[in-house]
Amino acid sequence: MSTKQFALKDEQATIQLGTSLANLCSQQTTIYLHGDLGAGKTTFSRGFVRALGHQGNVKSPTYTLVEPYQLDQWQVYHFDLYRLADPEELEFMGIRDYFTPDAICLVEWPEKGEGILPSADLDIELRYNGESRVALLTANNEYGSQLLEQLELC
Ligand code: ADP
Ligand code: MG
Repeated sequence: MSTKQFALKDEQATIQLGTSLANLCSQQTTIYLHGDLGAGKTTFSRGFVRALGHQGNVKSPTYTLVEPYQLDQWQVYHFDLYRLADPEELEFMGIRDYFTPDAICLVEWPEKGEGILPSADLDIELRYNGESRVALLTANNEYGSQLLEQLELC
């Protein structure tokens, strides 16, 4: 298990973290995004899906729970489970159909799906640090560790 920490001095740095990680993904990937409202989970996700070719808006799917992005090489699913009342609702959504071999899943508020949500390769916690943010990344398996080892921010 490995961890890494990055100081994110402004919004651009949060976007850059998403961009850098997106470019390293080489197989099915699941990333949990932890942190309070406004910590930067959606900002990270925006950098991530844009790096993989999405050109439009990226808003958190607060009401629909999931937003799909069919991109050149990957199917990205961006989840926001903030409004999930019960993890069992994920069963009704057919949650397992989203975690397929060509899919990258980014999950905001994964705590709300605990017990039913498939596990993550990487956990990212975004924390407030004055006006800026800090990101704490934890790998949960060999693939997650590889991603962390290769990850460097410009
Ligand atoms: P969340 O999805 O975690 O609720 P958002 O990404 O929607 O948060 O909002 C984060 C807010 O904080 C945005 O206004 C964004 O511009 C700002 N922000 C993102 N990253 C940073 C950073 N590293 N430093 C300062 N502000 C940031
Ligand atoms: Mg959000």
